[in-house]
Amino acid sequence: MRLKTLEVDGFKSFSKHTRLTFNSSISAIVGPNGSGKSNIAEAFRFVLGEQSMKSMRGKRGEDMIFNGSNSHGRSNRAQVKVTLDNNDRLLDIDYNEVVIERVVHRDGANEYYLNGSPARLRDIRELIAGAHIGSSGHHIISQGEADKIIEASPAGRKEMIEDALGLRIYQAKRLESIRKLERTRENIKETQTQRREVAPRLRELARIKERIEQVRQMKQDLQTQSLEYFAREYAEIEAQKQEGGDKRTPLEQKKQQLEAELAEKRSHVEAASTENDQSTKLREIDGQIAELSRQRDELTRELGRIEGELALHQRVIAQANKTDEHNATRKVYLKHVEDTADFIEKQIQRAEQAGTVEKMKEAFGAIRESLANFIQANREEQDDVSVKEARAEIERLEGEKGEIEQKRNMLDGEKKQREEEYRGITDSVEERKDSTRDAERAIYELRTQLSAITNDLERLDARARALSAREEEMNQDLARIGQVVGRAVLDYKNYDLGDQTGREVPDQGDRRKELERLLIRIEDNAVEAGDDMLREYEDLVEKDQFLERELEDLEKSAVSLEELIAELEETLEREFQIGLKKINDEFQKLFSHMFSGGTARLVRMKIKPKHDDELEDSTEDGVPEDTSQDGVELYVSPPAKKIKGLQMLSGGERSLVSIALLFAMSYINPPPFIILDETDAALDEANAKKYGDLIAELADKSQLILITHNRETMSRAGVLYGITMAGTGASTVLSVAFEEAEKAVAG
Ligand code: ATP
Repeated sequence: MRLKTLEVDGFKSFSKHTRLTFNSSISAIVGPNGSGKSNIAEAFRFVLGEQSMKSMRGKRGEDMIFNGSNSHGRSNRAQVKVTLDNNDRLLDIDYNEVVIERVVHRDGANEYYLNGSPARLRDIRELIAGAHIGSSGHHIISQGEADKIIEASPAGRKEMIEDALGLRIYQAKRLESIRKLERTRENIKETQTQRREVAPRLRELARIKERIEQVRQMKQDLQTQSLEYFAREYAEIEAQKQEGGDKRTPLEQKKQQLEAELAEKRSHVEAASTENDQSTKLREIDGQIAELSRQRDELTRELGRIEGELALHQRVIAQANKTDEHNATRKVYLKHVEDTADFIEKQIQRAEQAGTVEKMKEAFGAIRESLANFIQANREEQDDVSVKEARAEIERLEGEKGEIEQKRNMLDGEKKQREEEYRGITDSVEERKDSTRDAERAIYELRTQLSAITNDLERLDARARALSAREEEMNQDLARIGQVVGRAVLDYKNYDLGDQTGREVPDQGDRRKELERLLIRIEDNAVEAGDDMLREYEDLVEKDQFLERELEDLEKSAVSLEELIAELEETLEREFQIGLKKINDEFQKLFSHMFSGGTARLVRMKIKPKHDDELEDSTEDGVPEDTSQDGVELYVSPPAKKIKGLQMLSGGERSLVSIALLFAMSYINPPPFIILDETDAALDEANAKKYGDLIAELADKSQLILITHNRETMSRAGVLYGITMAGTGASTVLSVAFEEAEKAVAG
């Protein structure tokens, strides 16, 4: 890569468009003080993306723009354009020529262009960093800046060396990785915090979800189990209903039949009991018998009286008989005897024919009378009056007696009849009583049977009542469970009970208890949670999973960043040590050339190579740590002088050390071009000569632009540009010959 041209327009003291062409390996810019030479060096810084206005001797972007003079109006913008030859493709862009352009406006706005196209500062930085001409400016040494490396802290010095060695890119990468790691760690913390924040709610929702799922499962169980329970309940109820119905019909028929039989027997008994009511009749007969007895007693008493009277009269006769004893031996007419005997015979015959007691009695009476009459008739002439009267009375009384006896016999007959009637009645009553007893026995048996049947029927009724209670209970259960599990449970009639053989089947009571238990558990676990909560849970789970994944990714990238950093540090350290050794070799050479002897070296100091500590605010307490110990120390020992401290060197000596070091660094990793602004200012003639030799040597490796007042230096340049202001307040550039340049230097 080679620097071709620099164009400035409105930049600092350059009011007009000015072009400088660098077609020599050494170009010198010369001119009087204040003519604008350093502005050229700053134009390089500017166009290469320098952000520090201070390093370009300004405070803000506006300070870069030509501010006007007596003869020239001020510019609205400053524009610097650098054209680079890129045939060697040092710049990683597929152009042979690369034009980088920067414009700053009065409002401070910057524009960048790459080959005419707007570009980002970052793109330009990346592009030039690859060519070792980064904005860090190690290849642009401003006026009075040469001993910066001497004055720098070990850490600052180390940075400069890294820069010169082209290790800044690693360092930048390392710092970027450290920043990334920091960000990653922050993100990890933040993500962890987010996860922690989400966790309690997630746990709560998970518990709720679990309960919802449990309840859902329990409802499912309840549905299945209640379907089976209701199917069985229904089947059992229906079967029992059927069984009850089957049993009832024959029982009712039997009952009717028995009732009919009973009614018949009852009416029989009833009828018998009315028929059997003969007491009135018996009492009546009884009365009649008593009356007949009374009458007979009366007749008996009458008879007694008559017999008494008769005895009285008979005694009279007997008395008379005693007196007339001869009557006993008295003779009677046969004829009378035969007549009487005849009469008696006749009476006997008649009585025999009649054959009745009455007739016999009658016959006796008649016989007795006829005998009395016979005796009377044979005694007649001999009886006195009293005997006669007695006999008459006896006859009357006998008659009366006979009548009474007859009457009495009649009463006896009648009484006998009545008594037979009475006996007949009582006999038939007894007979009837027997048949009623049979009927009553039958009634008893029928009643027993009926009550058994009634008992059975009552049992059936009780069972039917129990059954309808069970049905009622089932309907209530259905309604209750239906509310919990929905209408599906109503479909229990279609539930297939399947083959139950070999299965341990709990009874309905146990089933119902299980249903109750499930219902209670469902109620206990019921959560006031809807789909909202489930959605929230899912969202949260998703979020948590996302965070988890993110955390994993972050942790992975933290690990790989740590690895990358470690690698970069290793590379950096290794490259640095290698580079440092080379620089030290070169530095020692240049130093002893400049000082004609002596020693000089850079020493790596490393106490705390801890990347975290190098970042601002990166330590735990936010205070950046002192990294001064981590860096590069510079030790010089000029010949014949026993000094070690740099502060004890003279100004020229300091310049010599600086130049030796700068050049050593440039030799090791030469940048495409180096701009040195009056680095040679403090050198005496002899040293200026040495400086010139070094420049000539360096020019083999890097293109050099030298701002100088030194004649020796000028003599080494292939091209000389003179800058003048000539009282106009604006710089002008002219290509000059060495002699003119000498004059220009002289002012
Ligand atoms: P020396 O030889 O003394 O180092 P030099 O040639 O390097 O001088 P510079 O420092 O480049 O001179 O130029 C400084 C000049 O540029 C000053 O005269 C200053 O007024 C002028 N200048 C700086 N900024 C602007 C600006 N924005 N507008 C106009 N002129 C400016």
